[in-house]
Parts: sequence; structure tokens; C-alpha cells
Amino acid sequence: MAYTFACKDIGLDCGFKTKAKTKEELLPLIAKHAKEKHGMDPIPPDVMQKVQAAIKEKKGIF
Ligand SMILES: [Zn+2]
Repeated sequence: MAYTFACKDIGLDCGFKTKAKTKEELLPLIAKHAKEKHGMDPIPPDVMQKVQAAIKEKKGIF
């Protein structure tokens, strides 16, 4: 199982995609990107809700 996130899934015009084995590992990667590329420090609660909803669980080999 892997968790994936793509910025375009929350409506951002951005090609960023990331994945991790757990949500706990994924969220810091998203936060780092949001800070560096989108100036979100921290990610606003409304955006974080979209992020949480956009995280996909993917079965298969990580
Ligand atoms: Zn992005």
C-alpha cells in the first residue's frame, strides 16, 4: 500500500506529485512542498482539508 498526492488534485496549477508508505510520512512531504513552492507556512486549514481528501491509497508495490 502506498499513499499518493498530486497538487493538481486540489486545483493547483502545479506538477508536483509525491508518495509515501503512510499518511504520516506523506503529510510532511506535502507540507515541505507547499512551503517551498506555494508559500504556505503552515498549510491553511481549508487547504489541508482538501489535501486530506485528495490523498489516494494505492495498492501494490511501493
Ligand atoms: Zn504544488
